Amino acid sequence: MEDRARVVIVGAGIVGCSVAEHLTRLGWRDVVVLDQGPLFEAGGSTSHAPGLMFQINPSKTMTQLAAYSVKRYSELDLDGKPCFYRVGSIEVAATPERRKDLKRKHGLATSWGLESALLSPDECIEKSPLLDPGRIYGGFFVPSDGIAKAVRACEAMAREAESRGARFYGNTEVTDVLVEGGRVKAVETSRGRIETETVLSCAGMWGPRIGRMAGPFAQLLTPMQHQFAKTTPLPELEGASEESDHVILRHQDFSMYFRQHADRYGVGSYRHHPMPISPDEIGRYETGKTMPSIMEFTPEDFEGPWEEARRLLPALKGAQIDDAINGLFSFTPDGAPLMGESSRAKGFWMAEAVWITHAAGVGRMTAEWMTSNVPTLDPSGLDAHRFEPYAHSPAYVSARSSQSYQEVYDIIHPLQPMEESRPLRTSPFYVRQKELGAYFLEANGWERPHWFEANASLVEGHDIPDRDEWSGRYWSPIVGAEHQLTRERVALYDMTSLKKAEIWGTGALDFLQGLTAGQLDKPVGKVTYTLMLDEAGGIKSDITVARLGEHHFQSGCNGPRDLEWMERNLPEDGSV
Ligand SMILES: Cc1cc2nc3c(=O)[nH]c(=O)nc-3n(C[C@H](O)[C@H](O)[C@H](O)COP(=O)(O)OP(=O)(O)OC[C@H]3O[C@@H](n4cnc5c(N)ncnc54)[C@H](O)[C@@H]3O)c2cc1C
Repeated sequence: MEDRARVVIVGAGIVGCSVAEHLTRLGWRDVVVLDQGPLFEAGGSTSHAPGLMFQINPSKTMTQLAAYSVKRYSELDLDGKPCFYRVGSIEVAATPERRKDLKRKHGLATSWGLESALLSPDECIEKSPLLDPGRIYGGFFVPSDGIAKAVRACEAMAREAESRGARFYGNTEVTDVLVEGGRVKAVETSRGRIETETVLSCAGMWGPRIGRMAGPFAQLLTPMQHQFAKTTPLPELEGASEESDHVILRHQDFSMYFRQHADRYGVGSYRHHPMPISPDEIGRYETGKTMPSIMEFTPEDFEGPWEEARRLLPALKGAQIDDAINGLFSFTPDGAPLMGESSRAKGFWMAEAVWITHAAGVGRMTAEWMTSNVPTLDPSGLDAHRFEPYAHSPAYVSARSSQSYQEVYDIIHPLQPMEESRPLRTSPFYVRQKELGAYFLEANGWERPHWFEANASLVEGHDIPDRDEWSGRYWSPIVGAEHQLTRERVALYDMTSLKKAEIWGTGALDFLQGLTAGQLDKPVGKVTYTLMLDEAGGIKSDITVARLGEHHFQSGCNGPRDLEWMERNLPEDGSV
């Protein structure tokens, strides 16, 4: 094994293999990928994911990552065997409310360029013949969704990366990451030391352990148990193809999903209480033993889902459960991946809490980010620095990750706040705001008023357009009246929830002028609303900058990412 590398990637699951492939495509050489388990069924989540890929997601970036992943897996094969089966997907609606949600999803998909259609129950049966049409109100069909063969895709991507100089080593555990003077220097492994300036953790649910090795780059993920079972063979599927002839199915009203496995069916369920595990409890895979990412199946948690599976797909009534697991994979407080470079240990990167569905896209994004600092797609919702310091408490991470596990398939309004750990931060005006009938939503952990019932009388005389039931949630016509009166008269706003940064020193003005698009060289006392940019002129954030003195500014930022970006770009001469 090499004793030097340009980058060491920890983990040869779907994410590690994908980043290696994309980095070498962008010209990186001396890429070394290490896995503690055997290649490429290394024992992590990738080894047993059934590979369903539903591209649509309430986040546009996540949808784009999934669309790229479908494209990339479709291009791959391993010794002539495909890595993706384009069987299509149907999400069924078992309630009128879900039917409405599917209509909204169809709208999102259309606006984001993902072909889709709304189907009647009978049209659903044509594509998924085991469905009971009496149980559903219709479905949402995406023809380009399908099934990824994740382990195959790992090996196919690894071969491509190897052809461009990457090296993959199994049965090699990373035991330490050496950081000196705030920079990565080397990794220690069970087979010796590798000198390197760059380490990328793609260790999935082991990620927090690797993060701790590199210092205080908290990794806010929790491994969760998730149930997946295969049935015994179904007579209805006799003579079926070796993978699947049917579309994959999502049954969101019961937090379940289904796929055909040749003459069997696979049933996945989130319909159980959250079962978090500490990353420190998960061992490493030793050939011949049970994979560390597989926990013992708990049949009592599967009783309700199994009943529902047989109601939705009556053919399952004649089948038994065979081959069932509680598999482990990572969840974060907001359900999105964790990506980016540590600001405390330069050269330490991560790409974790990523589904198979998004892994090729995340691989490309990480490679671009590591190469040019500016990925093609917007990484803001995936940046590991997006969390406030309070969100790093283990109790918070576990509570929110459990909630995001339970809500994986729920109908979530874009403004719907998390219910746990509230109120967390209240402003000095909180008591008075409550007296005025404030309706609070959460912002950066702060309780932030969205309108005051005390202003209800202001609605009269103002023409506030009505909203329908969905767009009117977490909203009141009072909001409209308050906005209009702010324009016409004078209003007082509590800005406590905005993050503040004080910037001072002889180089403060130059520093801010270089980081933003606005003209900040204004008299003391002026406040400027401006955009903070990246190297390519892309928008990082919209901020306000108040000039408090000649060399002293205060910025109102949106969140921790803004501060991290400022700190990352501070001049090295100490003038700020
Ligand atoms: C039952 C089940 C069903 C799922 N179904 C789907 C699905 O249908 N669709 C979907 O998109 N996703 C699905 N997922 C999720 C998906 O499997 C994971 O999110 C994904 O595989 C994570 O990939 P990864 O590369 O990040 O992690 P992993 O595959 O876990 O890879 C991490 C690797 O890091 C290695 N490693 C860790 N620590 C070290 C160390 N110290 N030194 C060296 N190597 C180390 C591990 O051995 C491991 O191989 C499912 C997961 C489960 C459990």
